[in-house]
Parts: sequence; C-alpha cells; structure tokens
Amino acid sequence: MTSLPTELSTVLGADGEDGSDWMLEARCLDADPEAFFPEKGGSTREAKRICAACPVRDDCLQYALENDERFGIWGGLSERERRRAKRVGPARVRRLSA
Ligand code: SF4
Repeated sequence: MTSLPTELSTVLGADGEDGSDWMLEARCLDADPEAFFPEKGGSTREAKRICAACPVRDDCLQYALENDERFGIWGGLSERERRRAKRVGPARVRRLSA
C-alpha cells in the first residue's frame, strides 16, 4: 500500500501522462500521512477535514475505487465507507458520513 499524502506523486508517478495529474493538487501532499492511515480504531477526523477542502476529492475517490485501495482515507472516505460507496454510490455515502 502506498501512502497517499506525501509520497503520492512520487510513488504513483503523477506526471499527467496517465491521468494522475490531479494528484499534484492534492491537499494532503504536505499533511501528516498518519492522519490518513491511522491505526485501527484511530481518528479519521483530521484527514476527512483536509479532504473536505480538497479540489480533487472526486478524482481521488474514483482512483481509490478503481484501484481497490483497501487502506487509508481516500476522497474523504474510509475503507468501510468506500466498500459501501461501491454498493450504493459515493454521493449517498458522503451524505451519510457528513
Ligand atoms: S481527497 Fe483527501 S486523500 Fe484525496 S487527494 Fe484530496 S486530501 Fe488527499
């Protein structure tokens, strides 16, 4: 599993040639990675607060859903919320988790 925030563009090669240029606008690039990958039972509040103001939140969530990212906060949703988003749609999950 890659760490989305600080290693994002390096690990995933966000050079714009593969549609990953959205990563360069990620609000979490300078954030504490531990906020996005908390220990089991840890708070996701800070990560979700950052995601809420992120201009590429939809791209991020789509990426996570398409790549079956299993860990961490992506697009403002936790692993469990992303599993649910696959079943009922991201908009509904966001409404319920807001
Ligand atoms: S939505 Fe959240 S995890 Fe995704 S790029 Fe933005 S700040 Fe990072």
